[in-house]
Amino acid sequence: MGKSLAMRMTVGIIGGGAAGMSCALWLSQLGHQPVIIERGGTLGGQLLAINRVNRWMLGFPDITSVELAHRFADHIFHSAVTIHPNSVLAGVETCADGYQLNIQSDGQNHRLAAPALVVATGVRVLGAEMFTDLPGFGSAQQSGLLGAYPLGHLDYPPYWEGQSIAVIGAGDNAHFTAKDLALAGAHVHLVMRSQAKAQTQIRTEISLLSHEGRITLHEQTVLAGFKPEQHGLCLALSKDGKTSQWLRVDRVFFRIGFAANSEFLTQFGVFSGLNQQAGYIITDSAKRTNIPGLYAIGDVANPKHPSVAAALADGALAAQSIEKGTA
Ligand SMILES: Cc1cc2nc3c(=O)[nH]c(=O)nc-3n(C[C@H](O)[C@H](O)[C@H](O)COP(=O)(O)OP(=O)(O)OC[C@H]3O[C@@H](n4cnc5c(N)ncnc54)[C@H](O)[C@@H]3O)c2cc1C
Repeated sequence: MGKSLAMRMTVGIIGGGAAGMSCALWLSQLGHQPVIIERGGTLGGQLLAINRVNRWMLGFPDITSVELAHRFADHIFHSAVTIHPNSVLAGVETCADGYQLNIQSDGQNHRLAAPALVVATGVRVLGAEMFTDLPGFGSAQQSGLLGAYPLGHLDYPPYWEGQSIAVIGAGDNAHFTAKDLALAGAHVHLVMRSQAKAQTQIRTEISLLSHEGRITLHEQTVLAGFKPEQHGLCLALSKDGKTSQWLRVDRVFFRIGFAANSEFLTQFGVFSGLNQQAGYIITDSAKRTNIPGLYAIGDVANPKHPSVAAALADGALAAQSIEKGTA
């Protein structure tokens, strides 16, 4: 798009997942100069680690999330987008025209003046570290029988046949893991602190597997401690504050949710008044935060319904909102 230099804006985008890449594409199409600052070595974010078919992308019924990430990144590499891989934001100051950013890349520092800054840093998986206070945690951790990565259980399905496995969590990921493991021949104990909170369809499937005796449901049950055995682990399960059951399992998978990657913002005084809830950044419908010139998109600002489609849409909304604020 033919924009005069005066109207062409440099926009810093922190995070090169689906949301950050979508925002960068839209900004470049609108005639601006997006700069992606990505902590990792390549673009793609969470999608790079999900090597299974993503059934939710309109027009791409058979594509895996990894393939989607490669397609998105390829599109960005062929667009007018500046990419700083292996980079983090090391400093931010406000100035008359917006922000002065200090970007640290592979030990070198660059300065960048950007009227707008977009946070697209996604989320990270919560794992065993949430249970460090429980009795027996240290030796359970050392046993190597605790796993947290969302799709780690898919690496070698035949391995699970005949094993007894605890899945801790009540949401979609816990339910999908329980289903995968049960179909691979394991007996699964699905341990849920609350009642099941997953989508209706997967809950129905889990209910059927439970009736077949392949999954035991432990609702409103809390993990209260660990006792390693010579082979496997014993888990103390508590209902109503009482340890009511010792459960012996061969392995535990934690599927207890995610945390927003927003802590890094606390080191910058200019963002000290940023509105957040449980670490998730609060925005209006145009993806603006309460700090002028600061936008937030994708999972880091979407605790309730994260998805690739929502991340892509957020990127488009932020770019248009930035364009409208300045054109
Ligand atoms: C197991 C699993 C299965 C899923 N399945 C589906 C599915 O089938 N369909 C679907 O639509 N969605 C699915 N999702 C959700 C979907 O993957 C996410 O909603 C989407 O990828 C989020 O994109 P994002 O850009 O917001 O964040 P991310 O993909 O997390 O990208 C954030 C990027 O920011 C970078 N970053 C973080 N902190 C910093 C920092 N301080 N400085 C610089 N860079 C930083 C990260 O390295 C990363 O590249 C799934 C998620 C999981 C975990």
